[in-house]
Amino acid sequence: MNALNLPLVKGLHTILTPTPFPVGPANVYLYESDELYLIDTGTNTPESWEAFLQGMKALGRAPEDISHIILTHHHLDHVGLSRKIKKLSGAIIHAHPLVADQFALFFNEKFTRHNLAGVLYELGLPAPLIESLCEERHDFREYLDEFTVDEVLRDGEMVGPFRAFFRPGHSLTDTVLVHEEEQWAFTGDHLIHNITSNPLLRRQDAEGRREKSLIQYRDSLLKTRAMPLNCCFAGHNKAFENHQKVIDRNLGHLERRNEKILSLFNGRSATPFEITGLLFPHLSDSYLYYCLSAATGHLELLEEQGIVAHEKQSGVLRYFAR
Ligand SMILES: [Zn+2]
Repeated sequence: MNALNLPLVKGLHTILTPTPFPVGPANVYLYESDELYLIDTGTNTPESWEAFLQGMKALGRAPEDISHIILTHHHLDHVGLSRKIKKLSGAIIHAHPLVADQFALFFNEKFTRHNLAGVLYELGLPAPLIESLCEERHDFREYLDEFTVDEVLRDGEMVGPFRAFFRPGHSLTDTVLVHEEEQWAFTGDHLIHNITSNPLLRRQDAEGRREKSLIQYRDSLLKTRAMPLNCCFAGHNKAFENHQKVIDRNLGHLERRNEKILSLFNGRSATPFEITGLLFPHLSDSYLYYCLSAATGHLELLEEQGIVAHEKQSGVLRYFAR
């Protein structure tokens, strides 16, 4: 174990970068083997940039030394400095094929707002809250410095010493990178020590369908559970061993929350927004999107298990216990 309480892996270093998000600092990893690899790039803020540069300096390396940048998913606390680092290093950026699409949508303000407003209406939010959430998500754009992906990752294929596995759930683009020879992994936000990842709401597609992120997440957890891994290095928090125990804890947490939600119906039907309010009675606005994502995900999971069902009233989803 080293000062950060990380199990030691030869050539692997962590740089902690601050984020403006409730989750706290994000891990950026530097891995030295035949070439120098950077896993994730932190948030596009002056503080995160400074932390990255200082971290590199402390390790006796310069950004120019980096040959490859591999991204675990497209969220802003993991990709923000990609363009700046690429500019200094000329590194090749590798990412899930949908990362570029997500950014294109992100910069299509009209589409994104309209889409989000449609999703939130369906979940039963009142108009003023829809407006303020759209505004909040829009403001996050300042944290993205657009960049291009040079090499698209393929599920099950190698990138340098790592094999990439797609594990959608927390986001559409979650990718686990397993060191093929040594059997340890970068798990991004798919699997984090002491945090059950929150699968965030997806956008609607052209037909108005939305992927069910918590169901996806649970399926992805089961796939990762079946892999032999010595140690995991996540997008946040410290590294951990025994990933099966961590996954079982997450699955147990999902089960308990399912039961809690079921107890909230009390013989009536409720919108996902109403369930969110009952599940998180002391919810502040800055957590609303995350908590709404969680409650909606659980309702979809319960529906898949045949325990609840929904109907639509004036375009708004209402769930009820069967
Ligand atoms: Zn994150």
